[in-house]
Amino acid sequence: METSVYNPYHVAQSQFDKIAASLELDEGICQILRQPMREYQFTIPIRMDNGAVKVFNGFRVQHNDARGPAKGGIRFHPMETLDTVRALAMWMTWKCSVVNIPLGGGKGGIICDPHHLSLREQEQICRGWVRQIAKNIGPVCDVPAPDVMTNGQHMLWMLDEYETIHGGRYPGVITGKPVGMGGSLGRTEATGYGVIYVLREALKELGISHTSTASIQGFGNVARYAAELFIQMGGTVISIACWDQADKTAYTYRKKEGINLDQLCSISDRFGGIDKNRARDLGYEVLAGGAWIEQDVDILLPAALENQINRETVKNISKTVKIIAEGANGPTTPEADEVLKQRKIFVIPDFLANAGGVTCSYFEQVQSNTNYFWEKEEVFSKLDTKMTSAFASVYDLACQKKLYMRDAAYTIAINRVAQAVRQRGWA
Ligand code: NAD
Repeated sequence: METSVYNPYHVAQSQFDKIAASLELDEGICQILRQPMREYQFTIPIRMDNGAVKVFNGFRVQHNDARGPAKGGIRFHPMETLDTVRALAMWMTWKCSVVNIPLGGGKGGIICDPHHLSLREQEQICRGWVRQIAKNIGPVCDVPAPDVMTNGQHMLWMLDEYETIHGGRYPGVITGKPVGMGGSLGRTEATGYGVIYVLREALKELGISHTSTASIQGFGNVARYAAELFIQMGGTVISIACWDQADKTAYTYRKKEGINLDQLCSISDRFGGIDKNRARDLGYEVLAGGAWIEQDVDILLPAALENQINRETVKNISKTVKIIAEGANGPTTPEADEVLKQRKIFVIPDFLANAGGVTCSYFEQVQSNTNYFWEKEEVFSKLDTKMTSAFASVYDLACQKKLYMRDAAYTIAINRVAQAVRQRGWA
């Protein structure tokens, strides 16, 4: 693994630099776009259940808001770093731009592991994070959302703290809220379904049948709903990899005739881990964590963490793989990307493939601000339209200019933000 040298911010900057050079962007615009506009780092002191005070570290990074308020999730992660948050904030700018929604890019994080925190402690962390950043977020400047290991309950605690501080009701300050408390129907499914809407378009363009096979890394929010819609569409998921908290390692669960999603969900925990003994009893092979990438399938769907398809692991991708749909953020390193290009594997890049979540968050903001909520089918239909149209623009440019899909998506996204920066007179 390349973990020791991997820095997602350097990856995000090098991806940007390459496209900026090909677009011949002015130096001033490059300087604005290759780093965040604003960064906040702070401490969050919490009284733990045992009475002791523990200090957590929190971040919020606003990469760019030329096209609209910054938008992006808040992660709970024991290994969170400022550079990871910077990279993810930058990717959010490109993501909102590539699906053409009027939002910029931001991201937040707290160094913590909710596996070892009671609900009360988690609530205090959420409220503490908001107290430190309440002046710098808001419906018209920066709108957070859930991400890795955070959920609707965390968002509601954050909303409540923000509203207490500001003395009013501001449902548009945060998205991913529970349904009935300003949340949008369909938000839970949106990222995973969005991955499959664009995958469906790719299968059509490449002439590959809907009855294809897939191997998925992750069994959390993104992976589960991607698996659900993929299976509904006629596909077969033959393996799922996820983290085992007890063994502190990952495993791949394989059933060659296809996993049964409901069955696996019934033996999973709320963090997206699977009970390996019960999986064995149900006839799943329990393989090493890295085995998901070696499977003889048509499609690989990384939907867990960054840096998973790298110089080492890319060698293990089977010859049968035709498409990689990146559900996770930053799952592929630049070195691995070069190998995928040479092997002519069709990659649907992360910030296009997983843009369904932020698109639905945008729908949630629209609904919250108008106080009028749509039916689930309406949400999915609008999401499908947005994702399909974004895929079509990127695919058309890729075909026209003979570009790799990631480069085509960056070209569209960066051009739009650069234009907004120019039009505002920033450069
Ligand atoms: P989650 O916390 O719900 O699930 C993460 C999953 O990854 C879990 O099943 C966990 O067991 C698994 N995992 C963790 N470490 C692993 C490892 N080393 N090997 C194999 N599996 C491992 O997270 P999520 O919301 O599904 O997000 C997954 C990815 O998608 C992240 O990169 C996130 O930034 C990105 N993303 C999420 C959303 C969203 O709406 N949730 C939107 C866009 C992008």
